[in-house]
Amino acid sequence: MKPILEVNNLSMHFPITGGLLRRQVGKVHAVTDVSLCLTRGETLGVVGESGCGKTTLGRALIRLYEPTEGSVKFEGKEVTEFSDNDLKGFRKDMQMVFQDPYASLNPRMTIQDILEEPLSLHQIGTKAERQEKVVSIMKLVGLREEDILKFPHEFSGGQRQRIGIARALMLNPKIIICDEAVSALDVSIQSQVLNLLNKLQKELKLTYIFISHDLTVVKYISDRVAIMYLGRIIELASSEDIYEKPQHPYTKALLSSMPIPDPRKRNNDLGLVGDVPSPANPPPGCAFATRCSWAKEICSHDVPQIEEVNGQKDHIVACHLKSEIN
Ligand code: SF4
Repeated sequence: MKPILEVNNLSMHFPITGGLLRRQVGKVHAVTDVSLCLTRGETLGVVGESGCGKTTLGRALIRLYEPTEGSVKFEGKEVTEFSDNDLKGFRKDMQMVFQDPYASLNPRMTIQDILEEPLSLHQIGTKAERQEKVVSIMKLVGLREEDILKFPHEFSGGQRQRIGIARALMLNPKIIICDEAVSALDVSIQSQVLNLLNKLQKELKLTYIFISHDLTVVKYISDRVAIMYLGRIIELASSEDIYEKPQHPYTKALLSSMPIPDPRKRNNDLGLVGDVPSPANPPPGCAFATRCSWAKEICSHDVPQIEEVNGQKDHIVACHLKSEIN
């Protein structure tokens, strides 16, 4: 099956300026050399600690940021070369749901106006048709029609996230990037929103990129998982392989810190010591070398390339010592 989204060697670096003339004195390597592809109807989880570049990656894919290098192909078309007009069409197909729906919902607009706005901006339908669509999408995400004239502050956190999801659905997108979409919600509400996302995916054949720092949530919703560290993907595999047969020392350490519901079982916590290095000054070799208990000399000067694990195309990892460790 042809991928709906194909990303090759994508980098997103932000300039650091200084001095009286505001000259560029460095750059923040937020995303470096990321390649991945998505097939229609799947969910790719993107996981990592805060500052690992996962949100920047999401924004670069949708061209909220202009990528520094690399290629993003949506249904075979090069997104980085889209004109403003092409971009307008593309943004109908690819939408985002943010962590804090309250911050992204205009507090002075009713739910009807918030949901109708994307249709008005794209000049879609008559007023009556737009209102009909608003009501049908509200029902689809579990909001009540009688709340249509309410304002965002009159809803709970979970309902506000449903409004955020409804707004993303108004233009019939093909891909939705969920950026920490359930992280601010209570656990019971999280599962309701995750179930809603699963239901919508089946009904509307949606493709998701699910960005989160929460491994439990990502495990629940993802078909495949990409682990990011300091702007790079260091491991990508099916959800089952990532959680059952992790290969990269960072993935192993992240998983070992996951809470286990059964208090009789002890977690073999490998412990992540130290902090993520600054993306303004990444280490020259493997970015994880400063925290990796396996690190050898080669790790301090050679960046490990992404390679298949035991010839499996769908499980890739970037570690010089993957054969020794596993
Ligand atoms: Fe650790 Fe070296 Fe592998 Fe990096 S390349 S994860 S430092 S063993």
